[in-house]
Amino acid sequence: MTEENESEVIRLSETDPQFKYELSKNSEIENLMLCMQCGTCTADCPVARFSGTYRPLKMLRMALLGMKSDVLSADELWLCASCYTCTDRCPRGVEFASVLRVLRNIAVGEGYIPDGFKELGLNVLETGYAYEISDSRMRKRENAGLPPLPKSNSKSIARLAKLVGFLKQVKKREGGK
Ligand code: SF4
Ligand code: SF4
Repeated sequence: MTEENESEVIRLSETDPQFKYELSKNSEIENLMLCMQCGTCTADCPVARFSGTYRPLKMLRMALLGMKSDVLSADELWLCASCYTCTDRCPRGVEFASVLRVLRNIAVGEGYIPDGFKELGLNVLETGYAYEISDSRMRKRENAGLPPLPKSNSKSIARLAKLVGFLKQVKKREGGK
């Protein structure tokens, strides 16, 4: 067996057979078990069209096969644009976009947050904006006659971050994904 094939082997002993049942119990997910692997979700996904690796059906199969840690730690989990095309076109009514949202929430709970998202969250916490807005950009707005940007409510943001345990999650895997 080549090294490449070896990395594609799915070891049952490393899977969690209960994972699909746990997901199915989530009220946000409908018809998870009804997937017939037709591939429509992947064929119609606008992200899959431009990504060499993101395949909605693959993510779904990984979840159904109990490859919990693989699916939760996959970079691809964060590529979905939540456009709901897959959900609209699925002939079996599988709410894939919701499955992915739930998977992301579980991933965050287990400390898998990609650095980019972590940074965006911390920016929002510190400045109220996802991206730092430079003084030169502010001046450009002013020169163009645009009104000042609304001030963020940092107290509310901090309260919300505390409520959802954002900082705790960020610290869980400092330097990790
Ligand atoms: S479109 Fe629906 S049934 Fe077809 S593979 Fe995707 S989730 Fe499964
Ligand atoms: S919701 Fe996500 S997975 Fe579904 S079609 Fe849109 S980008 Fe693709």
